Amino acid sequence: MDTRTSPIRQRCAALREELARAGIQALLVPSSDPHLSEYLPGRWMAREWLSGFTGSMATLVVAADRAALFADSRYWVQAEAELAGTGIELVKIATGSSSAHLDWLASHVPAGATVAVDGQVLGLAAAQALRSALDKAGIVLRTDLDALTAIWPDRPALPAAPVYEHGAPQATQTRAAKLAAVREAMARHGASHHFISTVDDIAWLSNLRGSDVSYNPVFLAHLLLDLTGATLFVGKGKIDADLAARLAADGLALAPYEAAPAALAALAPANRLLVDPRRVTLGLREQVPAAVTVVEAINPSTLLKSRKSAADADFVREAMAEDGAAMCEFYAWFEHALGRERITELTVDEKLSAARAKRSGFVGLSFSTIAGFNANGAMPHYRATDAAHAVIEGDGLLLIDSGGQYLGGTTDITRVWPIGQVSAAMKRDYTLVLKGTMALSRARYPRGTLSPMLDALARAPLWAEGIEFGHGTGHGVGYFLNVHEGPQSISKAIPDANMAMEPGMITSIEPGVYRPGQWGVRIENLVLNVPAVTAEGQTFGDFLEFETLTLCPIDTRCIARELLRDDEVDWLNRYHASVRERRAARVTGAALAWLSERTAPL
Ligand code: ZN
Ligand code: ZN
Repeated sequence: MDTRTSPIRQRCAALREELARAGIQALLVPSSDPHLSEYLPGRWMAREWLSGFTGSMATLVVAADRAALFADSRYWVQAEAELAGTGIELVKIATGSSSAHLDWLASHVPAGATVAVDGQVLGLAAAQALRSALDKAGIVLRTDLDALTAIWPDRPALPAAPVYEHGAPQATQTRAAKLAAVREAMARHGASHHFISTVDDIAWLSNLRGSDVSYNPVFLAHLLLDLTGATLFVGKGKIDADLAARLAADGLALAPYEAAPAALAALAPANRLLVDPRRVTLGLREQVPAAVTVVEAINPSTLLKSRKSAADADFVREAMAEDGAAMCEFYAWFEHALGRERITELTVDEKLSAARAKRSGFVGLSFSTIAGFNANGAMPHYRATDAAHAVIEGDGLLLIDSGGQYLGGTTDITRVWPIGQVSAAMKRDYTLVLKGTMALSRARYPRGTLSPMLDALARAPLWAEGIEFGHGTGHGVGYFLNVHEGPQSISKAIPDANMAMEPGMITSIEPGVYRPGQWGVRIENLVLNVPAVTAEGQTFGDFLEFETLTLCPIDTRCIARELLRDDEVDWLNRYHASVRERRAARVTGAALAWLSERTAPL
């Protein structure tokens, strides 16, 4: 490719002209939208449009003479490939590090210069960190400039997909009950109003779902609650008259999506507004009149939605059994077809998605399937494409991370399967990862333990051998909602009180080992926080443990038996017995035979 005609270079050049006209030395482009979502509607995929990097998370800085993309280890291989020839350098940052671009700006932009970022897509907490870092370096921050619209002629419009009700029986709590619970929390904060921008909070609270972004069943909206009513700011025509009437009966009025800023600006001086600084943008916060008292705290709905009810958990177990049956059917086909027909990483995605689509309650995938053979499995966020994918043949390890959205829950599972001959080194990695998954799955911990504290339990068997992996061990999972949700996180995140482990939370456990250019191993189950019955009873307070929700065999052919203790073998055998028992009724024929074989005791 002639790099001078690269569209990325041309876009950056056009942007630099805009910046120069506005007297700005650098523009910061986060992967973000007005709702601070993980999956962005096309309209807000500015970082991807400008850089060509298609990974889900990274920050781009375009300065007058150079440009840099900041990405963590999950994306290094992909970013290097996609940035080639664009003139944008890759800055490799540690997972969870959010300040590398600030240091870069401080050392590459002179004191007195101006850096811009679009305040409409910048989180309030992030804006505060940015402002204080730039202040220290004597750099001026501008947040009122949208530099992109002028240079992005075909910028996508707002999504227009309809909004629908998540109804009974899977919606186990009414809208009215959820709104009442949030108002109780508002009262505890002394708040008369509460503004919510995060789309999964709004979907949960309103028992509504949509399809404005990929994989997460959410819709773009803002919500303003007071002590008696609420206004949902949502695109015109997305909610039909029947649904609007049902919402009105629960005290939820509709207003145009664009009217949210004006509603904040219209708050009265006597009002006390509750907002979550991590879940609302600077642009919206700045609409609030100075005379209004603002209370900053986590969205009450974020805490409430993380704790699934007993009825929710029952539906999730059902969804897990359906999802497990789909896996069974797929793997039975896969093992039979292997060596008989041409199977690529794309075929895996296609067949597995088709198996899921047949299951009861299935709505869609919960993220894009990761099927990575050998070296591709070493990229935690790998995605096979038509242009680049591997044929599954010869020897090695196949890593498959996939999940579904069901009306009664969201699934996310990773398994690794042997193809042909598996080396001793592969078996060692596999077994160490399995030990990590099991160690955390079997943990007991006092209720309220801050979730990041549990992270080391899964890493310990790997650390003992000098092995580390560059992503978190586990993320919260929604209930027919986002596959990544907070507030709990089993990771190296700096703990705060909102990350306490409470009964009903669903979290993933997914340690891994990645050997770039060779292979990757990750074994992932979803687990539910349940009360633990211990020998001490309540002497030392309430304890929790994990119920493993995911129901799918963990391949035993890749295990180096000598690395497992007897109690670990016991755990695995008991897990497989329960998978067999709870799943057998849902599969027949080849899938049932496959299930029996793969769950045979070790
Ligand atoms: Zn996963
Ligand atoms: Zn996961």
